[in-house]
Order: sequence, then structure tokens, then C-alpha cells
Amino acid sequence: MKKGRLIVISGPSGVGKGTVVKALRERDPNVKLSVSATTREIRPGEIDGVHYYFITHEKFEQMIAEDRFLEHAQYVGNRYGTPAAPVNRMLEEGYDVILEIEVQGGLQVLERRPDAISVFIAAPSFEVLGARLRGRGDTDEEKVLMRLQQARMEYLVAKRYQYIVVNDRLEDAVADLQAILRAEALKTEHQEHLLKEDD
Ligand code: 5GP
Repeated sequence: MKKGRLIVISGPSGVGKGTVVKALRERDPNVKLSVSATTREIRPGEIDGVHYYFITHEKFEQMIAEDRFLEHAQYVGNRYGTPAAPVNRMLEEGYDVILEIEVQGGLQVLERRPDAISVFIAAPSFEVLGARLRGRGDTDEEKVLMRLQQARMEYLVAKRYQYIVVNDRLEDAVADLQAILRAEALKTEHQEHLLKEDD
């Protein structure tokens, strides 16, 4: 069976990457999302094992020691990591697997898995990003400024990603992601069998 593709998707807080990924998955049943482990507190509406595996710092350390993460990183005081085994299993089963992760972890994956497809989701502008952060009830201006500062750092790293998709209109962003996946599948290296004569 043909193996699936590993897709790294990153982008700043407030850009709406979760919404874009959800919409893509609704359109493409061959796309699965990796469930990360984290030490952060569970938020209302989140389900353990669905949105994240909510684990203790000790368990997180143990998973690092046992080399069970494909990547892991610290983000605003909490730890996040991608368990490697389920990702590898889904890829073997032929699914495309999305890692929706922040940039430090994204870069680790690009080092370890050079075949991964990497997409950075950007806002149309910094002004729009600021307006979105302020508009989602996060009225604490200090927090908004901190997130914008974090976004500036992420934009510096974004140059290492293969593609940038702007999330202005959701439909356009999803269509762009689908176009990337389609073009990747059409690459010569994935279609060399067509260039061989039958025996
Ligand atoms: P939140 O706590 O808001 O759910 O996520 C905070 C950030 O951590 C987001 O940018 C999210 O994409 C990222 N993140 C979620 N899971 C992982 C992971 O497994 N590894 C890394 N490196 N980042 C993650």
C-alpha cells in the first residue's frame, strides 16, 4: 500500500489554523490529525485523548527518556509533543497525517523527516492578526501584545517552511492547502512508474 504523507502546519495564535485544518479534514477523508501530548491544563470543552493527551510533567519526561516523541517543545510555559508511534501507524496505513504544531517543533520535524510537507499559515497582515486577537474576547491588551511578539518570532522561522498559505477567506485557504497536496502528489518522484514500459 502507498504510504501517506506527513504534513506540518504551523502559524501564529489567532490565525485560525485549527479552523483551516478542520475544514480540510471535512473535505478530505484521507487526512488525519495527530493528537499531541501536553502538560497544560484542560480547557472547557476539550476531551482527553481527542484534543490532546493531557499528561503530567513526569509522564512527559518519561516519554522523552523513552524516545517516544517525533518532536517536542515548550510553549508559553507548557510542554507539547507529538507521539511518534500513532503517526507512523497512520502513515503506514496510507493516511496523510497533519501535525498542527508550533514552529520549534515544526523545525525538528523538518530536520528529522525531510520528506515532510511544511505549510505556514499567515494572516493577511499584522494589523489583521492583532484585530483577530483583540476580537476573540481576549481583551487583555498585554496578552495581545505578547502574542503579537510571539508571532513576530514565528514569522522569522517561517522562512524555513516550503509553503505559506494566507488565511483571509477560509474557503481560499482550504483550496490553497488542497492545491499544495495535489501538486505534491503530481511530482515526478511520486510518478516515475508512469515512465516505465510494462514488461
Ligand atoms: P494550545 O495550548 O493553544 O492548544 O496550543 C498552543 C500551541 O502549541 C499551538 O501553536 C499549537 O499548534 C502548538 N502545539 C500543539 N500540539 C503540539 C505539539 O505536539 N508539538 C508542538 N511543538 N506544538 C504543539
